[in-house]
Amino acid sequence: MTTEKGEQLRQQLIAAVVKKRAALARAHAVVVRLMEPGIPEAEFLSLLWEIGPSNYADIVDERDINKLCGYPLCSNLLEKVPKQKYAISASKNKVYDLTERKKFCSGYCFKASEYVKAQVPTSPLWLRDRETRASFQLLPRGT
Ligand SMILES: [Zn+2]
Repeated sequence: MTTEKGEQLRQQLIAAVVKKRAALARAHAVVVRLMEPGIPEAEFLSLLWEIGPSNYADIVDERDINKLCGYPLCSNLLEKVPKQKYAISASKNKVYDLTERKKFCSGYCFKASEYVKAQVPTSPLWLRDRETRASFQLLPRGT
């Protein structure tokens, strides 16, 4: 390998690291932003492209810690959080773990959040610019 080629490779590597760091920093900024109440729908939908599933889980957790409904489009406070960890459905003969559900103010917000979470891209953040930007759907109210 010539020195010139080596230098070129080194530059490419540095550029890749810089790009990766920038994408991770951006995702972190999105997490911080989506921890706030009163996020507009359009902004929420556009920011989903900048994060991965683990970032989305962080958003829900951080909102829960701040006693805010986990669904970023909901500004309700979590007030009457049930104390029990499980719920038993006699009709369906099943036991439900409430750990995740307790982070939301309502069944709708829980479902709407899961619906969005399932659409968050799993590809590496720093390679997203090579992909076609996905369009995200919200769960309609009343479902
Ligand atoms: Zn809610």
